[in-house]
Amino acid sequence: MSPLSRMPQLVLGRKYPKISVDLQKCTVPFLCKKCLQICPNAVFHVTRVMSKEERLKEMDPRIDGNYVITASRRDKCILCDKCIEICPVDAIKIEEP
Ligand code: SF4
Ligand code: SF4
Repeated sequence: MSPLSRMPQLVLGRKYPKISVDLQKCTVPFLCKKCLQICPNAVFHVTRVMSKEERLKEMDPRIDGNYVITASRRDKCILCDKCIEICPVDAIKIEEP
């Protein structure tokens, strides 16, 4: 018997939920922010999409793609599904760890 076969089996998996936002559906998050407002644990935040040259330029939040919503604190997600239920365009998907 090889030493490897005596080792306990390694189980790989994610520790936190995987949260994805479909950016084709969520195009102007700065004007919506419903998921951000309803989340009890402040998992989401809205960030500006910009190139280095444009970092001082004012960006219109009404224009598609100028801002994106990200689930930056998915470690705090409690899988309550409130964000999924409130999203008007069905853009959020959550996979349990
Ligand atoms: S499932 Fe609940 S805790 Fe998790 S991101 Fe959505 S609203 Fe927040
Ligand atoms: S609720 Fe949906 S459409 Fe609104 S900002 Fe969140 S992901 Fe985008």
